[in-house]
Amino acid sequence: MTLPHFQYLEPKSVKEASRLLQQRGGKIWGGGTDLLSLMRMRLEKPLFIVSLGAIPGLSFIRYQKGQGLRIGAFTPLASICSSSDVKEQCPMLAKAIEKIASPQIRNAATLGGNILLDTKCPYYNQSPLWIESGERCLKAGGDQCLAVRGQDSCYAVWSSDTAPALIALGARIKVTQGRQQRWLLIDRLYTGLGDRPCNIAADEIVTEVLIPESSCRVKAAYRRHSQRDVIDFPVVSVAVAHYSTKKAADFRIVAGGVDPAPKRLLRTEALLNGQTIDGNLARQAGAAAAREVGPIKDVFYPSRFKREVLGALVEDAILACVADGNAD
Ligand SMILES: Cc1cc2nc3c(=O)[nH]c(=O)nc-3n(C[C@H](O)[C@H](O)[C@H](O)COP(=O)(O)OP(=O)(O)OC[C@H]3O[C@@H](n4cnc5c(N)ncnc54)[C@H](O)[C@@H]3O)c2cc1C
Ligand code: SF4
Repeated sequence: MTLPHFQYLEPKSVKEASRLLQQRGGKIWGGGTDLLSLMRMRLEKPLFIVSLGAIPGLSFIRYQKGQGLRIGAFTPLASICSSSDVKEQCPMLAKAIEKIASPQIRNAATLGGNILLDTKCPYYNQSPLWIESGERCLKAGGDQCLAVRGQDSCYAVWSSDTAPALIALGARIKVTQGRQQRWLLIDRLYTGLGDRPCNIAADEIVTEVLIPESSCRVKAAYRRHSQRDVIDFPVVSVAVAHYSTKKAADFRIVAGGVDPAPKRLLRTEALLNGQTIDGNLARQAGAAAAREVGPIKDVFYPSRFKREVLGALVEDAILACVADGNAD
């Protein structure tokens, strides 16, 4: 499929990029691996593409003791999962990234683009011919959701692998708009709405991700189930981080593929916190996670299947955390 007409802009600084986005509109281009396919399908038709590729200082990985691990938003996924700093400080993140797509896509795709990935739905991610030949769904400008008939909300599911991992690690992101900068916890980025999943203005640029020192070297595990081992989005995924102090052990559990946003499983976490973890409790936590996500509205997979898979992944990830953490 051909691309719609657009003008490609290569600003030399974040400030200039933000100004161009304010003045002309358009879309930010990280690695382009998601945006390109949306443009081919005419689901995005920006007149201007603002590339981050010529801006120095957006691709880096730096660990500083006491500060944590900082990763530039334009850093390719392949560089992150092969970085010795990431493998030492946050191996769970490296493992989550290793599962994404293929080496070619990981070479091009950036961390910023992956945390801002659009949700996916087979009624929406289609060619113009397919969309125009039938009823348009809500996200494509129609009146109702076609996946969950009669609903005036979009249920397209969240499928990025880095977001659950980063939420479990308590990561923050730096967002720049003109001269203004703000830091926010990454889970604040997600709206829970399938048709507008990220809470970020068109002229805001994510420039950096920070994993705090308190999350470095914690025991953590990432698990996902997909139809194929490679080049496939996760059907269900889970990131579990286990923060142990002398007094108590706290878990953070975040599921992907079950909602339009990565979902923190607070009730399941509460079941585990302060307890001695054994196989029985891990099994109970898996069952609790399956209940906590409730009925999942998905076109391809029955809700019960996804919940059972999630339960098994949660149980397995918890046991991996209390064993040596970060195990495969
Ligand atoms: C065949 C295939 C399989 C895939 N499998 C997986 C998978 O298993 N798991 C998974 O997680 N992903 C998967 N992906 C998605 C892939 O990881 C994403 O396409 C990629 O991470 C997006 O990164 P990018 O830099 O190319 O983003 P782009 O396509 O450049 O941008 C994506 C979105 O983010 C915005 N954006 C990009 N960078 C910034 C920034 N710094 N600040 C603000 N906005 C920004 C863009 O405007 C756009 O809206 C797959 C993709 C393909 C094509
Ligand atoms: S979940 Fe419904 S509204 Fe959202 S993209 Fe799919 S069909 Fe469209």
